[in-house]
Amino acid sequence: MKKIFLDKGHGGSDPGAVANGLQEKVLTHKIIEYAVDYLFANYTGFELRVSRAGDQTLTLSQRADMANKWGADVFVSVHINAGKGTGFEIYVHPNASPQSVALQNVLHDEILAAMRQFGNITDRGKKRANYAVLRETKMPAVLTENLFIDSNDAKYLKNEAFLKAVGEAHARGIAKFLGLPKKAKPQPQQKASDGKLYRVQVGAFSDRKNAERLAEELKKKGYPAIIV
Ligand SMILES: [Zn+2]
Repeated sequence: MKKIFLDKGHGGSDPGAVANGLQEKVLTHKIIEYAVDYLFANYTGFELRVSRAGDQTLTLSQRADMANKWGADVFVSVHINAGKGTGFEIYVHPNASPQSVALQNVLHDEILAAMRQFGNITDRGKKRANYAVLRETKMPAVLTENLFIDSNDAKYLKNEAFLKAVGEAHARGIAKFLGLPKKAKPQPQQKASDGKLYRVQVGAFSDRKNAERLAEELKKKGYPAIIV
């Protein structure tokens, strides 16, 4: 079981950057929720923790500590940039391990490709910085800066489909880096808004052939069916 730690940049009393009617903490929350949904829908062989389920305030060291104590295999911190620039950039620590650099490479390519389906997004590149969450984490760790909240980039950040694509690209990059097995068939994303997952059973048989017949029936009608 690989352990994935996702850090929602900012939260609680710290909204992060604020501009154009947008709050960084709300955007990073959405991107990570899309990443979580995509991981559970498409991959197996992992456990996942998120730095905050709701809107708690956490210090940078608390986030790194949580990941270290849990023994995470990968740490990804998601942020939105500010300072009136444009584009996407991704950071590792100046003394990053080769694994952190490998994670940076795969996430850089996945996320930029996903963003460029929406427009001509600037590649600000793969960078290094002495950020606390990168310095204090013991596993491969990166920090993404997903466009600028206070420039024309905001038009992308206001598009829910864009946030979804960015979240899913984070998920695909992490899965590639960890070599997570794909689910045989992607599960429909049935997660209710309260985070619970409801499964519906339509039949129980002692003969597998009967189960397969019913599963075929369901598939023909357009329902995803699995035999357990
Ligand atoms: Zn931030």
